[in-house]
Amino acid sequence: MSDSYDVIVIGGGPAGYPAAIRAGQLGLTVACIDGWKNRDGSYAFGGTCLNAGCIPSKALLESSELLHRAHTEFATHGIHTGPVSIDVAQMQKRKGAIVKASTQGILALFKGAKVTGLAGHGRLLPGRQVEFTAPDGTVRTLSGKHVVLASGSEPARLPSAPFDGENIIDSWGVLDLAETPKRLGVIGAGVIGVELGSVWRRLGAEVVILEALDTFLPTADQQVAKEALKHFNKQGLNIKLGAKVSAATLGKDGVTVRYTDKAGEQTLVVDKLVVAIGRRPYTEGLLAEGTGVALDARGFVEVDEHCHTAAENVWAVGDAVRGPMLAHKGKEEGVMVAERIAGHHAEVNYKTVPSVIYTAPEIAWVGLTEEQVKASGREYKIGNFPFLASGRARAMESTAGFVKLIAAVDNDEVLGVHIIGPMAGELIAEAGLALEYSASAADLQMTMHAHPTLSEALHEAALSADKRAIDFINR
Ligand SMILES: Cc1cc2nc3c(=O)[nH]c(=O)nc-3n(C[C@H](O)[C@H](O)[C@H](O)COP(=O)(O)OP(=O)(O)OC[C@H]3O[C@@H](n4cnc5c(N)ncnc54)[C@H](O)[C@@H]3O)c2cc1C
Repeated sequence: MSDSYDVIVIGGGPAGYPAAIRAGQLGLTVACIDGWKNRDGSYAFGGTCLNAGCIPSKALLESSELLHRAHTEFATHGIHTGPVSIDVAQMQKRKGAIVKASTQGILALFKGAKVTGLAGHGRLLPGRQVEFTAPDGTVRTLSGKHVVLASGSEPARLPSAPFDGENIIDSWGVLDLAETPKRLGVIGAGVIGVELGSVWRRLGAEVVILEALDTFLPTADQQVAKEALKHFNKQGLNIKLGAKVSAATLGKDGVTVRYTDKAGEQTLVVDKLVVAIGRRPYTEGLLAEGTGVALDARGFVEVDEHCHTAAENVWAVGDAVRGPMLAHKGKEEGVMVAERIAGHHAEVNYKTVPSVIYTAPEIAWVGLTEEQVKASGREYKIGNFPFLASGRARAMESTAGFVKLIAAVDNDEVLGVHIIGPMAGELIAEAGLALEYSASAADLQMTMHAHPTLSEALHEAALSADKRAIDFINR
């Protein structure tokens, strides 16, 4: 095996593996090194997303959603079953199989693109040399014309609630619970906290989420955030805002969490406590002295708008660099870098990164929130359409939520789309395309949407921006 490559990628998560595959497709010789180790000691490509993030969380979400529907909707449909119960072991087995199929799929994709996948640790040395340590401890030095750093992120730690891997756990730990805890505490009402909190709530846990900020989902459009909070509270998710945790200690009764809120000092006792206060870039052991790669004050690898670092022909992508920590953002960066390495023109349009929160109802948005547009001083108009007025949503028994479209008054350009409701994460793709093409509200109004589909809600929201909605009374 040659030790020289056109491109060496360190990290095989959703930012690194697409960089490797695209570079391979473009005829470059590529090695992709990944050190992800599963609990059973096996190595797997796919990073956080496939092994302990996006994919396993959505597998559990689907199971918990089915259980919830069986309990709450089947009778409405006229479907009667015996007692519905949950087998967490089987649910976890199914999740494991989905994760395995996904991570093994990467090996097949590598084969197709002629990428050499190397399980083990990679460390960048000066001059684009990479020290590769295999699982058996053997060390080789590889050299690359280009090196792409895609080392990802790890859960942020809270000194007052240190992980013990058993009772005070991170997002990977809560995805692997063997049974439903009676009382689950979550620190952090961000995307991961509310997604995983609502999964275990549907599976029967009493869930309390403690959030230090006074505002719920501060980066979302606040009309959507308020609607979401209303639904989550109705589902029994107990979200306490302005709750600052000062200590978490393990005792006989479980984990005692001390926090302060407006009313003063409070205590909460739970069986499991998840710390989900965000993630931080992971670059431990990645850089030897003298590589020329710089980290910023928060530990992110410093890059320019094309993901090039301060060192010649060394690039960095994904969660390890600035920008939203999302798999699809990392993927686009990985592909852009591979194309630039191959001499093509490529860019990432950071203005169209969609955000999705996989709860029920689902939340998704792209572009600017109403708060951001207002702050910009630009005159705007709003179109709104509730799923209650959608025939398809009624047929699906999923009428919670709405579509909100914000467009500029001066030139009709769509500035942002915010959806809370069924399949919001799928529906937002059309809005992303609209933003990518700098579409106007009129462009969406003139686009025919199939009936009856949920996508009509976006069409009607665009019409409503000019008081032309047909299936809802214009206000
Ligand atoms: C519970 C949870 C749910 C999530 N759900 C979503 C979602 O639904 N949608 C979404 O877009 N995002 C989601 N995310 C975020 C998403 O997982 C990350 O944005 C994404 O994984 C980042 O990709 P990455 O390739 O930059 O890093 P990672 O996925 O973290 O991959 C980095 C890889 O590099 C390896 N590595 C690091 N250093 C070295 C080294 N020196 N040598 C060799 N290998 C190394 C790591 O072991 C890892 O395998 C979720 C995250 C969590 C935790």
